[in-house]
Amino acid sequence: MLRRTILLLLCLAALLGVTSAAPAVAQDVPAGLLPSAGDGLDLEPAVEVAVPSEATAPDVQGIVLAFNPSGPGRCEVNISPWPADAKAAVTRAAAIWSSLLNGSQPIVIDVCWSPDFAANGLLANCGSRTGTFANFTGAPLANTNYPLPLANQLSNSDLNGGDPEMQCRFNANRPDWYMGLDGIVPASRFDLISTALHEIGHGLGFAGGVAWDDGSGSAECNGTRGVGCYSTIPDVYDRFVQTSNGTSILSLANNSMALGSALTGDALVFAGPNAIANNGGAAPRLHAPATWVAGTSYQHLREDTFTAVATGLMTPAMPAGTAIHHPGAVALGMLKDMGWTIYDLSITYVDKSNAGLENGGVLHPFNTAIEGVSAVPFGGRVFFFAGDYHENLTISRPMTLESIQGVVRIGQ
Ligand SMILES: [Zn+2]
Repeated sequence: MLRRTILLLLCLAALLGVTSAAPAVAQDVPAGLLPSAGDGLDLEPAVEVAVPSEATAPDVQGIVLAFNPSGPGRCEVNISPWPADAKAAVTRAAAIWSSLLNGSQPIVIDVCWSPDFAANGLLANCGSRTGTFANFTGAPLANTNYPLPLANQLSNSDLNGGDPEMQCRFNANRPDWYMGLDGIVPASRFDLISTALHEIGHGLGFAGGVAWDDGSGSAECNGTRGVGCYSTIPDVYDRFVQTSNGTSILSLANNSMALGSALTGDALVFAGPNAIANNGGAAPRLHAPATWVAGTSYQHLREDTFTAVATGLMTPAMPAGTAIHHPGAVALGMLKDMGWTIYDLSITYVDKSNAGLENGGVLHPFNTAIEGVSAVPFGGRVFFFAGDYHENLTISRPMTLESIQGVVRIGQ
């Protein structure tokens, strides 16, 4: 076992501008989680190639990153210039999400390279823009608040006009970012792609509208220590959260100790059918430790349960030296439960010559090996059109790589 530093990712739910300290913690992380195939990987032609039907829904029209935009409510005034490598890493994270999501509406994300982080060393924070987006045309559930990027897809319109849908801030003061694209992260560095992927995941829906009241300072609920509360129009995420005995948290009384205890009882699950199916038939556990940490508790998968790279992106802590370049099937199942249309990417296609639309289907293949490998879930298959792919490829979960025809060579 290799002891590595872990930093908690602070993530904002629906309330931008609220931060809280998150301590650095240490955890044993198995060494060798990330076998690398960067030195040249030859694929022999497949004897038999199954060609599934092309996905029919259009790709999400792209995640559009606005780097350090100025103006009210955008990035801070005293913002740091984006390093080129950092831009490339965040762009890669956006491309991974874009490849996974269907929809008609672009998602504009303000991305701020911010020196204005507290000294506690948080990596980043992110959230959907504030506001209540409920009961719009196309909303699957009534009286339910949807994260803005999802609300736009479901309504097939741009509900917030020209404003951005999400804001993500990255700590410009950290000297230990790893900004490479290859997922080969030195043990003491934090992978920016993985961090950005995680943070964007919050803006897409990994957030909820519940709070736990600490009884001091500003009242999170009714000012009574230990009570829990939710909004009168809860977030779609909240609709799926249950206690381990199947009780919806929204059936517990608002501003009650019973709800507060549930939020800190380490027994919450996300009981959506797709999440359950993608988690081997069990509702995935959520992070609900005895000590409530705003921005960390409740809106992540449980840290000590989802330790594998294939499912670990949306846990609260990101170990140094680790790359996770795919949300994982459990997280994608949760997003599907919330209303996202996710491609069936159990098989993806890669063709380096494709210069057009990419969604991983056979008609619109990804044009890099990294995209194809990143998108396919645990146990999936990636088909390559013949050619040389000059990429350093990291494979972090079991999958099958096959050639459509001819020789595929991967590596630099
Ligand atoms: Zn997070």
